[in-house]
Amino acid sequence: MSIATNEVDSAPSHFIRNIVVEDRERNKNGGRVHTRFPPEPNGYLHIGHAKSICLNFGIAAEFGGLTNLRFDDTNPSKEEVEYVDSIRSDVRWLGFDWGDREFYASDYFDRLYEFAEKLIDKGKAYVDDLSADQIREYRGTLTEPGRNSPFRDRSVAENLDLFHRMRAGEFPDGSHTLRAKIDMASANLNMRDPVMYRILRTAHHRTGDKWCIYPTYDFAHGQSDSIEGITHSLCTLEFEDHRPLYDWFIEQLEIHHPQQIEFARLNLTHTVLSKRKLLQLVQHKHVAGWDDPRMPTLAGIRRRGYPPEAIRAFCERIGVAKRNSTVDIAMLEHAVREDLNRRAPRVMAVLRPLKVVLTNYPEDRVEQLDAVNNPEDPSMGTRNVPFSRVLYIERDDFREEPPKGFFRLSPGKEVRLRYAYIIKCEEVVKDPNTGEVVELRCTYDPQTKSGSAQSGRKVKATLHWVSAAHALEAEARLYDHLFAAESPEDIAEGEDWTKNINPNSLETLSSCRVERLLADAAPGTRYQFERMGYFTVDRDSSDKMLVFNRTVTLRDPWAKIEKGQKK
Ligand code: ATP
Ligand code: MG
Repeated sequence: MSIATNEVDSAPSHFIRNIVVEDRERNKNGGRVHTRFPPEPNGYLHIGHAKSICLNFGIAAEFGGLTNLRFDDTNPSKEEVEYVDSIRSDVRWLGFDWGDREFYASDYFDRLYEFAEKLIDKGKAYVDDLSADQIREYRGTLTEPGRNSPFRDRSVAENLDLFHRMRAGEFPDGSHTLRAKIDMASANLNMRDPVMYRILRTAHHRTGDKWCIYPTYDFAHGQSDSIEGITHSLCTLEFEDHRPLYDWFIEQLEIHHPQQIEFARLNLTHTVLSKRKLLQLVQHKHVAGWDDPRMPTLAGIRRRGYPPEAIRAFCERIGVAKRNSTVDIAMLEHAVREDLNRRAPRVMAVLRPLKVVLTNYPEDRVEQLDAVNNPEDPSMGTRNVPFSRVLYIERDDFREEPPKGFFRLSPGKEVRLRYAYIIKCEEVVKDPNTGEVVELRCTYDPQTKSGSAQSGRKVKATLHWVSAAHALEAEARLYDHLFAAESPEDIAEGEDWTKNINPNSLETLSSCRVERLLADAAPGTRYQFERMGYFTVDRDSSDKMLVFNRTVTLRDPWAKIEKGQKK
């Protein structure tokens, strides 16, 4: 476990922790705590999974227990090795280690097959000839009981024979199933003779062509937990109605009984968290891939620059509850800001450059100014920033006709340049054809150098800047919510949820200028661009062009808009 112990120490209590504490007091399972994180490898992990990962690994670590990583790979048609690899690296990136306990439900296919035979032997399972459609028809509804299949009362011998022949490949796909014999009138639809095995001639990513019958998730999941000696099977609320079925299987099989505990899944505003829908975004090219920095996948937010520490802190903060709710995505962004504020070095970068010429500054002069790397952490030290006659400032920091309350640069007005001097705008140069402002001619006041004895004169704004001759060109990708709607999945009948995709979720600025020291920054390195937000070097960065992802803004711009304030 590489999770910092102080994070665990400060963890607030919740109902699952309380259950574990009580179980240990009663010496249940000999006081052992053994959990697992059981993803189905049919997509990339998302921030919702992070909640489950932090919970499972966190609670075990807290009580000196173990956590397995188990791939619930019972459905061969939807699963791919790419997903297994991504899940592994995402869990590791979040800061968790499953040691040598990496398991696959498919490792248990032989055991599960034996379990099925045992249930047949006990008269608790039967081979059905009904088709999938017929099974659905016979199942009944919430208000009407189901009907018994005409094949329900086959003898044990006949069932065993048919089940063996299913495995031997004697029957076509879909022609037979193995079903649990429970109660077609149960109020719980999951107990109405659920299917345990189906015939499916699809190669499996691990077992190849060995099997042409596969266990259903419902038959595999609880037994896999049992085989692994899991003590607490933590899962999301939608499995509450499946618990009686899982308990039934375990009791009939007389094997170790893990305790299933359900908790509320994480929902986030402006976000879709369903692998099926995320897959659709990728396949229909609404995003550039699973790790598009706008995606809520761990691969996406990692590329975007979210630190794993921030995600763990966020998961602690949202807690674990029994009732579904939706968390404001601003909380996640806040956790990211809080972390980066302390740890990311600050640099100056101009995203939309406007040229400034200091007419009274000598042409050949370059001063090295002293800049603080992070005022939150003096141990991060200082660096030199070159200052010269030709600079770039942010285009937004100049207004030819400043509105009331605009204290940044405008004709005849003064501002301070960060770590440097006070400058005054003397002249505005425009493109004669377009009227666009292309250059500001300014003077600097040599008496006002930052940190010098005479620097005391006050002006109302301090701007960031870079020296034109020394800065590097860079691309910045600015992201906004992928979904403009707060609840993108709330749609009217007949509407498509993809209509809520925000067409302006990506803005690319390709002529930014950044301090030269960023040239050697490896992909994944995070910075605060002073006044502009937190940015992370993207893996598209090359010797030719530095590329940055805006990880998060300095403040939450949406909150301001909602309060009716200006941006
Ligand atoms: P999705 O609905 O996105 O397809 P899933 O539940 O089908 O997710 P699994 O691979 O089965 O995905 O999930 C692995 C584990 O992660 C499960 O224990 C599941 O309960 C948990 N999990 C999935 N989504 C969330 C979420 N939004 N919040 C908390 N836990 C989640
Ligand atoms: Mg699932």
